[in-house]
Amino acid sequence: MSSTAIREELCKYARKTVTNKLVVGPGGNISARHEGKMYLSPSGFALDEVEPEQWVEVDIESGEITDIGLRPSSEVLMHLYAYRVNPNIGAIVHTHPPYCIAFTLVERELPIMFPDQAALVGKTLYVPYVLPTTDKLADAYVEVAGQASSVLLGNHGLVTSGRNLREAYYRTEVVEESAKIYLIAKAIREPKALTKEEFEEIASLESEAYRIQLLQKMK
Ligand SMILES: [Zn+2]
Repeated sequence: MSSTAIREELCKYARKTVTNKLVVGPGGNISARHEGKMYLSPSGFALDEVEPEQWVEVDIESGEITDIGLRPSSEVLMHLYAYRVNPNIGAIVHTHPPYCIAFTLVERELPIMFPDQAALVGKTLYVPYVLPTTDKLADAYVEVAGQASSVLLGNHGLVTSGRNLREAYYRTEVVEESAKIYLIAKAIREPKALTKEEFEEIASLESEAYRIQLLQKMK
């Protein structure tokens, strides 16, 4: 894949985050890794306004911006640190999905409740509120980024990662759906999660095949 293709793919998933109401206004930021660089949304843009050439190219090792022009998202450090420490992360999606935020106002650990969530996302971690755009948030995220593909940021939003943009993006959709389902159920009574055995059953042998099948359905 060329950097041109990466830029176009970023536009595609950036538009999806807005269309699917995972972010409003100029909030949220997404990035993808490509050959030692990361391509990150510029600061001050709504994600669906970013044109292919406007994604900011940053050298992952040095942290230097290697193309001219726009300022990178204020969460540049969060993305940068996560790529440096986790070679398996190929893309990061940070959004402000309403049900996820609502969830963090009242709860911390999102239980695993249904098979798609277990196969596509697995566990979701929680980090308490820290001031956005600071290296405090970057440090808090990077500490857990290798342990789970989705992290709820208290009173703030969600970060998901994946081997590629598609995987990171769909994880955001699934976690938001999970938070929504949890909150609906919780309004009635204590939600019933999958048991550890039920989760492990999905996460074991069939996991990879099942995940691929789901992702193909989502095309
Ligand atoms: Zn944010």
